[in-house]
Amino acid sequence: MNETPIRARETPMRARALVDLAALRANVRTLKARAAGAQLMAVVKANAYGHGAVQCARAAREAGAEWVGTATPDEALALRAAGDRGRLMCWLWTPGGPWREAVEADVDVTVSGLWALAEVAEAVRAAGRPARVQLKIDTGLGRNGCQPDDWPELIAAAREAEEAGLLKVTGIWSHFACADEPGHPSIQAQLRVFRDAVAYAERQGVEPEVRHIANSPATLTLPETHFDLVRTGIAMYGVSPSPEVGTPQELGLKPVMTLSAYLASVKRVPGGHGVSYGHHYITPGPTTLALVPVGYADGIPRAGSGTGPVLVGGKWRTVAGRVAMDQFVVDLGGDAAQVGEEAVLFGPGDRGEPTAEDWARATGTIAYEVVTRISNRVPRVYVGENVDGYTE
Ligand SMILES: *Cc1c(COP(=O)(O)O)cnc(C)c1O
Repeated sequence: MNETPIRARETPMRARALVDLAALRANVRTLKARAAGAQLMAVVKANAYGHGAVQCARAAREAGAEWVGTATPDEALALRAAGDRGRLMCWLWTPGGPWREAVEADVDVTVSGLWALAEVAEAVRAAGRPARVQLKIDTGLGRNGCQPDDWPELIAAAREAEEAGLLKVTGIWSHFACADEPGHPSIQAQLRVFRDAVAYAERQGVEPEVRHIANSPATLTLPETHFDLVRTGIAMYGVSPSPEVGTPQELGLKPVMTLSAYLASVKRVPGGHGVSYGHHYITPGPTTLALVPVGYADGIPRAGSGTGPVLVGGKWRTVAGRVAMDQFVVDLGGDAAQVGEEAVLFGPGDRGEPTAEDWARATGTIAYEVVTRISNRVPRVYVGENVDGYTE
């Protein structure tokens, strides 16, 4: 038989997102120290902002996160299926649930209105065990959550269901609109509404285990918002909530993701050569073009056309012409490079590479979107995983 041996490839990948779980654990410990006295919920919605929900939830638990939070119930149930057994909450529900599955999996469900409370009660009867319910008040964000005017009715219904043994109200919570803009007047206004809503519920006999409103920026800048629990997402990934809150370095946070691709072509071209669709870049003279094999299907913003920064050969380059679906080009300005050489789109910055914040600035978005949009076509490679029995 003539089997062709599979050759080990010198460059193992087209692209990869390196995820440093030791950095994530360090960030969790930093945030826990910032919120001393409160518990911490590691928010791992949207596949942990693109970093991998199962791995990040596990690492966050190892670093002491008492809670894990997701947006959708499906995200929470996937964590249970992967073996997570700690306190787990999710908040983005639509009619139909899956309430029963969440109750059976001991997930704290969020209720913002009477329709959801009725669906929980029905699921509890089917599951044969009470639900853990967290009630959400809209203190001013204007998205989900019970309007303050409707709060007494929701509290009354929740107390009635509690008395009937259907559920336990485990938490009361809310979410900020402008915590990433320190000093914004809405912050104190939301806090006042939150305190009133908690006090009202407690007067009606609700005994929540946790009261919480702080996201990453509030955790970092507003100690009076910590209450019993802080819900941190972006900061745990070592990314700043906003330039006003500070750089990751200033905040003592270490970026967790490094996005690299490996050059698929390096070639000399004459001056006047059009580059990529639409010819929005024309080489100003004889130069070297390098092909970076990631594009908008990998989550690279097309808005990075002509603006996105990339480290190649120790220097910052800028995307030349348009970002296409699978690739873009950088002009090396005559410098040499090897095919297969690493191009770093963003990372911690300690090798001189751009950061997620740099890409956000270059593309007119927020750093949250830069990391979260990296698609499944880019393999995640984990480093710094905790070894059993090893403590840092
Ligand atoms: C996403 C989210 C968080 C985390 O926000 P960060 O700014 O990433 O820390 C907290 N709470 C809720 C309800 C969220 O949706």
